[in-house]
Amino acid sequence: MSVEQVLDELKVKITKKLPVGVTISNVEFEGPELVIYIPEPKKFADNGDIIRNLAKDLRKRLVVRPDPGVLASPEVVIEKISKIVPEDAGITSHYFEPDTGEVIIEAEKPGIVIGRHGNTLREITKEIGWTPKVVRTPPIKSSTVKNVRQYLRDHKDERKALLKTMGRKIHREISSKDKWVRVTALGGCREVGRSCFLLSTPETKVLIDCGVNVGSDDNGTPYLYIPEVTPINQLDAVILTHAHLDHCGLVPLLYKYGFEGPVYCTPPTRDLMALLQLDFIDVAAKEGKTIPYESAMIRETLKHTITLDYGDVTDIAPDMKLTMHNAGHIIGSSIVHFHVGDGLYNIAFTGDYKYEKTRLFDQAVNNFPRIESIITESTYGGSKDIQPSRNEAELHLQQIVKETVNRGGTVLIPAFAVGRSQEVMLVLEEAIRLGIVDKIPVYLDGMIWEATAIHTTYPEYLNSDLRNLIFHKGMNPFLSECFEQVDSVEKRKDLLTNPRPGVILATSGMMNGGPIMEYLRAYGPDAKNSLVFVGYQAEGTMGRRLQKGWSEVPVHHNGRTDTIKIDLQVHTVDGFSGHSDRKQLMSYIKKMKPRPELIMTEHGDEKSCLDLASSLYRKYRIETKAPMNLETIRLV
Ligand SMILES: [Zn+2]
Ligand SMILES: [Zn+2]
Repeated sequence: MSVEQVLDELKVKITKKLPVGVTISNVEFEGPELVIYIPEPKKFADNGDIIRNLAKDLRKRLVVRPDPGVLASPEVVIEKISKIVPEDAGITSHYFEPDTGEVIIEAEKPGIVIGRHGNTLREITKEIGWTPKVVRTPPIKSSTVKNVRQYLRDHKDERKALLKTMGRKIHREISSKDKWVRVTALGGCREVGRSCFLLSTPETKVLIDCGVNVGSDDNGTPYLYIPEVTPINQLDAVILTHAHLDHCGLVPLLYKYGFEGPVYCTPPTRDLMALLQLDFIDVAAKEGKTIPYESAMIRETLKHTITLDYGDVTDIAPDMKLTMHNAGHIIGSSIVHFHVGDGLYNIAFTGDYKYEKTRLFDQAVNNFPRIESIITESTYGGSKDIQPSRNEAELHLQQIVKETVNRGGTVLIPAFAVGRSQEVMLVLEEAIRLGIVDKIPVYLDGMIWEATAIHTTYPEYLNSDLRNLIFHKGMNPFLSECFEQVDSVEKRKDLLTNPRPGVILATSGMMNGGPIMEYLRAYGPDAKNSLVFVGYQAEGTMGRRLQKGWSEVPVHHNGRTDTIKIDLQVHTVDGFSGHSDRKQLMSYIKKMKPRPELIMTEHGDEKSCLDLASSLYRKYRIETKAPMNLETIRLV
């Protein structure tokens, strides 16, 4: 049966189930969703159960949208909303999502926009056709979020056409009678960086992550040229666990090579990914390295991205359903779970995860409806990779900051813009507020401020303690006056030439470039300063060299390379990592429900992957493997 016929049948089926007087104008597959267009949104709103019952009957992700014809223009909508909503609601912006027929109303007091028993909101719905969604105005504005939303709005027609094409592909008829499932390692096995897996069935091929090893000049790219993957446009989809470059850095390259399918990820991952990819090519250009793709390909990626929230079960191919779950690693990070065939097989890829509650996130999910195998990260998979507790780590950091500041020095902290930076910010803010550390300035350079803004845009992805602090107690730690954003060349120059006691938190996290290198140049030769590593330093990176105690390192500057002497104190504060340590990796599996049949280890150096695999086997008697890159494992 062709997709057209399927849609025609669905239309008849749906129409039959509707109450008298309620009509639909069209049904269409758009991306993974079945969209029902309705000419009279109000009537649907009054019959709340219709959609729930239909979704149950049809076993599809159903979305009801007003017919584009009944959507008023944004200008008219804004005008109408302003007439209905009292002024003291403090509406700060309206975001139109033509994809979904939603208008997101940002207000300082969302309660007033909603009104008593939702009365005001209902009135808005009646007047404008669009579905209004009210959110609290993020306390820090993110230009990334604004640009991403604007870009999608500007390309709404093109995007609609893309979603329609993708939708038809997802809902195509299954053509093969064979049943098998395989996973192929394309990168990130027995190493950290360039994470990439291919999950394939006779019907479907999807990539899980497509990262780059930023620390490497030759082995930076996954094995995308092997016959299983090429031609690249035969791939059905790319699924991203999170926005770190070792997981998503080369996604735009796929579009350059002809990929036309969707990228699935959470909304924060989409925005952060764009930010980090733009920075990646920017840094590469500044360092005179080859740029793997142009910024146009980053925009192409955005255009093809379909966001999913945690827990949404979504058809991504005729024989594959995808669900994302909190991984506790960075904002929006996900453990991606695939249900293959109709009950044939279930496999999850953890990406990077933290099996412990942190200041920012809840611990990673390890409870699934069904699971036969799991591919787990092993960054700290070695038997000796035990990390101190969070509390110990925080005390250790406070101690270093105190001592350095007391001798008049400056603390440099290289950090990923996303994740560790915000954790460290929260720790320093508390220590300064409680008087544990003197009132010193904490400078934020690189994309840390912008990444923080993205955190406050998606509070539902933070743990409830932090959410409460930000929104309900009126005490947003990120807005503390101890933080100073280095937002101009002059400010940075001033910091570089006039050292002062304080903390400088700057990117990049493994010192592969970014503003931290400028600070190292300026502060490295003075013994009263400190350099503190709070995150994992991969082999081959400048961070790892400094950690090993190199006393001289080459630093690129204005197109040439200088050697600088390292006299500052180098510390490693373990325990802040967004990765699970060995104990947490073991207990993640131990407490996992249901118990998997097969565990594969990746995302760790060779020793860690092998050690974790053999320990899991010995302890829990579950079959384990530590695949090598290019290996294919047959699962069914
Ligand atoms: Zn990561
Ligand atoms: Zn990673």
